[in-house]
Amino acid sequence: MNARNTRSPSLTGRLTTPILVVTLFVLALSACVLGLVVWKGYEARQNAIAQSETELRNLAHSLAEHASHTFQTIDIAIDDVVTSVRQQTLPDRQKFDARLREIVDKLDQISDLMILDRDGDLRYASLASPPSFNNADREYFIHHRDSAAKALQITGPILSRHSGRPIIALTRRIDNADGSFGGVVLATIERDYFTAFYKTLDLGRDGAITLAADDGRVMIRWPAAMEGRDLANSVLLRELLPHSPKGYSLEQSPFDGLVKYYAYERVQRYPLVVTVARTEDSVLARWREGVRSDTVVATAMLACIVLLAAVLAGQLRNRQRFDAILRERDARHRLIDANIADVVVLLDDHGVVSFVSESAEGVLGFTPDEMVGRPCMDMLYPDDVAGLRAMGKHLANSRDGLRAEFRMERTDGTLIWLEANFRFTRQNGRPGNHIVCTLRDVTRRKAVEDEVDALNCRLTELARTDGLTGLPNRRAHEEFLEAAFKTSLQLSVVMIDVDYFKGFNDCLGHQAGDQGLKLIGSLLAAAAAESGGHAARYGGEEFAIVLPGSDIEAAMRLAQQVRRAVRQLGLANPASPAGYLTVSIGVASRTAAMNDPAKLVRDADMALYQAKRSGRNRSIAAVVQVDDATPLVPDEAPGPTTTTSPRGQVPNA
Ligand code: GH3
Ligand code: MG
Ligand code: MG
Repeated sequence: MNARNTRSPSLTGRLTTPILVVTLFVLALSACVLGLVVWKGYEARQNAIAQSETELRNLAHSLAEHASHTFQTIDIAIDDVVTSVRQQTLPDRQKFDARLREIVDKLDQISDLMILDRDGDLRYASLASPPSFNNADREYFIHHRDSAAKALQITGPILSRHSGRPIIALTRRIDNADGSFGGVVLATIERDYFTAFYKTLDLGRDGAITLAADDGRVMIRWPAAMEGRDLANSVLLRELLPHSPKGYSLEQSPFDGLVKYYAYERVQRYPLVVTVARTEDSVLARWREGVRSDTVVATAMLACIVLLAAVLAGQLRNRQRFDAILRERDARHRLIDANIADVVVLLDDHGVVSFVSESAEGVLGFTPDEMVGRPCMDMLYPDDVAGLRAMGKHLANSRDGLRAEFRMERTDGTLIWLEANFRFTRQNGRPGNHIVCTLRDVTRRKAVEDEVDALNCRLTELARTDGLTGLPNRRAHEEFLEAAFKTSLQLSVVMIDVDYFKGFNDCLGHQAGDQGLKLIGSLLAAAAAESGGHAARYGGEEFAIVLPGSDIEAAMRLAQQVRRAVRQLGLANPASPAGYLTVSIGVASRTAAMNDPAKLVRDADMALYQAKRSGRNRSIAAVVQVDDATPLVPDEAPGPTTTTSPRGQVPNA
């Protein structure tokens, strides 16, 4: 498996997906927010228009009522005046003026009340000091003079001839008894009476109230004074009013050209119509404010969504990165696990296997599944279990872990040697409750080590063995003596030298000499073995036997036995006066005061020397001093009393 191959393309793909999801999420959420704002705005707009319609319709109705009541009140007063005038042919001027004043005082709407005679001259008036003028030229006067109609005539606005202010004239014809034209009753309403009321109503910028005659003549308009304008060709008079006495519409204003919402209503009983108008801007002003604040809120929400999405995308990116790293790490671990020669085992605190690396199958023959859940001790070679248990007791105290070697039986029945390193897992610097163990197959190494050990033993053996006779050599003799000296208080050394051996060689040849030495060696080895001693080739044609536990008598008995045995080999020695191959022997035993094994050898050597001097083919024991506190032969300097001398000699018998 190549870890690198599993990396880049899929990582890019994995990173793109969450970003795409977050982007779609943001777009969907943004669309929802925007949709909500648009829907709410649309609803609010419809509500604003509907509310405005209700308000304008109500207002138009109220103003129509107001106008109707105003004119009706005056109409009744005029009617009353007309009746009074008819009843009295020529009423007393002062009295009648007073009566007219009384009416005017009662009715706020009326600014002046007067009667014009058939020529248009002022006959009666509510005015305190009535001016002198003729109104025969007035439109209303001409109308009444030329028409027998009795109906109230409403005319305006016109300029008052005595106050100079714009007024609405309400007039009615007075008939003479014969039905001829007798004059006109005139009541005036100042335009301000209406505008003072209209100005209290707020219709917003460019809003307007219009009171017009149903032939299109504008009587009152607030706030722009456009009285006198003719609306005869307007949509209102041409289309709306003929169709319905009241209504609502969005139209372009005939006054200022602005598009406005109109509510209109015909004034009851009188040929008048009231219109109330508000511009579209004014109607929708509050709605626009609402939309503006909603937009701000929506923008803030979108900003929050985008911010959250950015954070979310960041988190997702990080998580994807971590996942990728973990996957990569896991793949690497698997790669190592599958290819490593060592086996990694995790044990719980009861020694039960909780994890095994894949490599176990190659090394141990067991699959990880076969090992997990089993106590590790059950899988070991029985002879090694006790040692491993003993080691396990020290594991908790060992910071660096412990190393051990043991055997295990593979599934194929072969025994393998494993080298193991045990260590407690550590978490936050403290020992955990698991043991991690790495196992390595060291069977081959063990075999090589065993071979080397065997070779070393062999070499050591060779180094301590005499090549010719096969006996231990002098070094081995000294080591044995050293060791025996430490453990045995009763200890004897027998030194043996072949007599006239140079001559033997000279006469019979070196090979014959070697053969003779071999025979003597075998003989000595057998004799030493019988006595629990240790025979060695001391050097040349000299031999030595160390006899632990033998006193001088026993040693001497062995010496004699050996000497006879050599003679009995019957090997001819032409150089020897005896004619046969013989040996001379010196024997010494350890004394109580002796503290050096070399001294024992020296004593035996001196006894041997004595045996040689005494004629050879004999055994002589070293002289033992009577005083057992000191050795018979002092170490320092031999003297007459201290010179080693044979305690007894046994000649060739
Ligand atoms: P003595 O009775 O006084 O001991 O006389 P000797 O001739 O035995 O003693 P000497 O020291 O003069 O001679 C020892 C001889 O032993 C000399 C040597 O050739 C012989 N020798 C020593 N080692 C070997 C050996 O390994 N093989 C053979 N063939 N001869 C050896
Ligand atoms: Mg010698
Ligand atoms: Mg000799």
